[in-house]
Amino acid sequence: MAQAGKGRLNYRCPSCFMRDLDIDMFYDRDKDEYYCIRCQYRGSEADVLEKNQMARFRYGAMYRRFTDFEDFSGEEERA
Ligand SMILES: [Zn+2]
Repeated sequence: MAQAGKGRLNYRCPSCFMRDLDIDMFYDRDKDEYYCIRCQYRGSEADVLEKNQMARFRYGAMYRRFTDFEDFSGEEERA
């Protein structure tokens, strides 16, 4: 009963992962894209991999101590 839907590999949704949810994405064979059933995210395999890297980076950063939040608001004003 191997249903279409899952890709070759299971990728977690980077968008959900950033919100602390570990959701496997489904694979859309017609569009060659992965998509998440929980949020609106969809993207190619390369996009998913790239965003998962970013998510991991951000997630890892959560364990770092950011004590000076003044810096972040300063960044935004300059941008
Ligand atoms: Zn998602």
